[in-house]
Amino acid sequence: MPACDLCGNSGYKVLYSVPDLRFRHYEPEYSVVECLKCGHRFLSPRPTIGTISQVYPESYYAGRSASDPKQTSRYLKQAGYLPDIQGGKILDIGCAGGGWLKTLQDKGWECHGMDFIKSPYQEENIDIRHGYLPESYNRFYSESFFDVISAWGVMEHIHNPSEYFRCINWLLKDKGIFIFMVPNGDSLWSRWAYKEDIHRHLHFFRSKTLRLYTQKYGFKVKRIEYTNDIYSLPATGRGLFKRRLLKMAGAQWEEITGLPHTAALRLLGKAGSLLDYCLIHPKIEEFLGLCGNIVVVFAKENNFTGD
Ligand SMILES: [Zn+2]
Repeated sequence: MPACDLCGNSGYKVLYSVPDLRFRHYEPEYSVVECLKCGHRFLSPRPTIGTISQVYPESYYAGRSASDPKQTSRYLKQAGYLPDIQGGKILDIGCAGGGWLKTLQDKGWECHGMDFIKSPYQEENIDIRHGYLPESYNRFYSESFFDVISAWGVMEHIHNPSEYFRCINWLLKDKGIFIFMVPNGDSLWSRWAYKEDIHRHLHFFRSKTLRLYTQKYGFKVKRIEYTNDIYSLPATGRGLFKRRLLKMAGAQWEEITGLPHTAALRLLGKAGSLLDYCLIHPKIEEFLGLCGNIVVVFAKENNFTGD
């Protein structure tokens, strides 16, 4: 059982347990737990670093070509979070083929990318290194080198975010910024609707715990923006009523994600869908801070010198 990545405490309470509903593998079930000391939420137990690749089927990577129009729209939105620095140096962690960096290079940024695996859609003439950040950051780059580091949809997938915050602090210039998007652990989508990407997401960040991370690793929070707008499909909690009602009525997971076996459960599912449609709307979720994703901007305040 992993200890809390944020505070090291090993006491926690279980919030809920689910199998891999996205790819319909109905066992094993893993639990989303909350640290009793700091409130950080994480998966426990979870796939190990040695077995994590088994929960990423080939279909997970489908549709990730940089030329996909959905990607172009996402790249523009992501660029909107960048500061205006002429010739600034950026490192994108989890850059895949470097499609976003290519668009930034055309605007004058000095672009560097890093990813654990090599993408089949690799852009040419972009400096992309492959490896695990905590093991390679000080071999690949020098201290206080970057104006901006970004990580879009990365921090929730890694086993040890603390290690990443430490490395990112070392790599950033003074007042440099770290821009990242993660699922909102307090959202309807993540917390209540059984829609989290279990078993691939291992950490469920919340504004409260993000602030604790900044205090610990030498940053301050510049901005936390609740948005359903980066990806083409919003991470909405719609489906919450249907799934929760079916679960409370004793339906199996395959009935909750597919067709319920009995007429009574099918009727209950329809009633839940009606409530979802009437009561949950992506724009209202955004307004209330309950939408599925958050974009976070940290500014480096001081050098992290140790725990
Ligand atoms: Zn904790």
